[in-house]
Amino acid sequence: MTPESTQCPDLEALFTELEEGAGPCLEHAKGCPLCSAILEEHRLLEKDLFRLTDPLPPPDLVHQVMARVSAEPPPLRRELWTGVTILAVSLLVGLGVLLSNDAALSSAGTGLARSMVSSRAAFEALRSGANALWNTAAAPVAVMLALLLFSSLFGIKRLAGHSLPPSEA
Ligand SMILES: [Zn+2]
Repeated sequence: MTPESTQCPDLEALFTELEEGAGPCLEHAKGCPLCSAILEEHRLLEKDLFRLTDPLPPPDLVHQVMARVSAEPPPLRRELWTGVTILAVSLLVGLGVLLSNDAALSSAGTGLARSMVSSRAAFEALRSGANALWNTAAAPVAVMLALLLFSSLFGIKRLAGHSLPPSEA
């Protein structure tokens, strides 16, 4: 133990003075490598914690995004249209699969009609409609739903990825 380290103040006193902004312990820390290292570590930790507990986007996020949109209109618009087109095509394909399946459509139509009569009949109709759809087109429906989900996610990711590059997030 060097003479300096035996004079080091209690950490609690040091941090209390740090919050107050002045004091004998802070004066000591200025000339003490051990205490200034502790203070620096505390400062960095506090900064990280602040960043972790503040996940909300900055209040001027919309302004930043709009500024970026006006700054580079042609490429960003092309990316936006790519994303929107992917989403639209996904929805159309998903809808097309359902509409092109006569059995599923007629089951759904019957179910819809019956649902007007009573809620219990509606439940049965929906159940049999879902069963019919699954029995007649389980594989294609599952595949199309998976494709729909993935392409939608891809489209959204493209949109989000271009609006907020990680370098400036
Ligand atoms: Zn010290």
